[in-house]
Amino acid sequence: MLICPTKAGLREAVAAWRRQGQVIALVPTMGFLHDGHLALVRAAAARSDKVVVSIFVNPTQFGANEDLEAYPRALERDCDLLHQQGVAAVFTPSVDEMYGTSGNTFVEVPELGGILQGTLRPGHFRGVSTVVTKLFNIVQPDVAVFGEKDFQQLALIRQMVRDLDFPIEIIGYPTMRETDGLAMSSRNIRLTSEDRTAAPVLHAALMAAEQEAARGADVEHIGTIIRAMLAKVPRAKVESVDILDAATLQAVSGSLTTPVAILLAVRFGEVLLIDQKVVQPG
Ligand code: AMP
Repeated sequence: MLICPTKAGLREAVAAWRRQGQVIALVPTMGFLHDGHLALVRAAAARSDKVVVSIFVNPTQFGANEDLEAYPRALERDCDLLHQQGVAAVFTPSVDEMYGTSGNTFVEVPELGGILQGTLRPGHFRGVSTVVTKLFNIVQPDVAVFGEKDFQQLALIRQMVRDLDFPIEIIGYPTMRETDGLAMSSRNIRLTSEDRTAAPVLHAALMAAEQEAARGADVEHIGTIIRAMLAKVPRAKVESVDILDAATLQAVSGSLTTPVAILLAVRFGEVLLIDQKVVQPG
């Protein structure tokens, strides 16, 4: 497995594979890998000959008061895990390698980047769309795999790929969970033990919402059920509960007529957890 800290090194390796007619898949990550990331890697391997994983904690998608410095890192361990998965190359650029010559050119997807998490985290999605564009241009993959856990991010990347005509197939992969339902996340390690015990309430609330939807409950009732469950956990500070048309991410109301995406953002101390579920009408 190649470990490439430079764009030039990675481009050279990928160009050689491409000359041999091999299909290239990219899995972008910020590292501190868990089984959710590794499931994306396996999905990428099933659709390609060579999997490239990028590990880059992208500063431009973190706000001034966010956890950039505290974001967990374990590069050596990550590389061991990826080696075991048969990954062809890991791209591990420094911030300087990625942005050293930057003239502050950004890629923005205003409609999808300016709503929901985009209003709570100004600039976040501009950072995401810009770094993903750079990774797409550096790696030039045929396929790229992203998690449905970051539902708004996945929708935004699909839109960007359509709008800018990237010749890349985007694959969405379902959320992988711990046995108690907590969505796997690199941030979970930063939860206190008390918060870790309480955090599965996000999944429990999503499951309750699904049951209510199956019984024919309307959007307002589902929202009330979710908020009531989260309110029972004093340390859970709800940042947002959104019930949206799963295809357009527009807010919906009244009875469910199309699949809806329920997106939760809940803070435990310093740690912001997100979770999501797509629910079918009853
Ligand atoms: P991150 O390292 O958090 O930026 O995540 C890298 C990729 O892994 C993104 O496409 C995420 O949506 C995806 N991902 C993160 N957590 C999970 C999970 N629990 N299950 C599936 N995919 C995930």
